[in-house]
Amino acid sequence: MSSQIEDAFQPGDALTIVDVQNDFCPGGALPIAAGQEVVPVLNRYIRAALTKGLPVYASRDWHPRDHISFKQRGGPWPPHCIQDTEGAQFHPELQLPESVIKITKGVRFDLDQNSIFHETGLEHELRSKGIVRLWIGGLAEDVCVLASVLDARRCGFEVVLIANGTKPVSAEGGKRARQQMHEAGARIEPD
Ligand SMILES: [Zn+2]
Repeated sequence: MSSQIEDAFQPGDALTIVDVQNDFCPGGALPIAAGQEVVPVLNRYIRAALTKGLPVYASRDWHPRDHISFKQRGGPWPPHCIQDTEGAQFHPELQLPESVIKITKGVRFDLDQNSIFHETGLEHELRSKGIVRLWIGGLAEDVCVLASVLDARRCGFEVVLIANGTKPVSAEGGKRARQQMHEAGARIEPD
């Protein structure tokens, strides 16, 4: 029964799922502890969004080989989410609908794009659809989710963080991220 989520959804809302990809889950190249636990939670939100006729967006990190964010290039991360590899695929149990709108990021040779808004054109897309509020979950809470939530707030969108549908790289980072998102005016739910 997802009626509670359905009741909370309003016209003008969109569901936004950040980087729920194999490489960010246990067994992947840049695994986040218990990352796969966000999947059943987000599946409930996906079902509710479909029932209410709301758009579902899903971002994916989609790097060229030897991307600038990788350690061998002086970046912070091991190689991950390389285009067309198994690791870059969405988690197999994530029930993305056929109508999902994908946001592809991290493709540029010259910079990393943690935020789903960073030079993706997403702000334009959301405004053209009349979206005013984003429900955001996914991976990782203290990296790409954080950057996306802060950018969404800067763009003037209302934001609800799906708190049980996101996991951080580190517990400490997750605590700090949640504080920053709260201070930026994001609603954290369930609190
Ligand atoms: Zn990346």
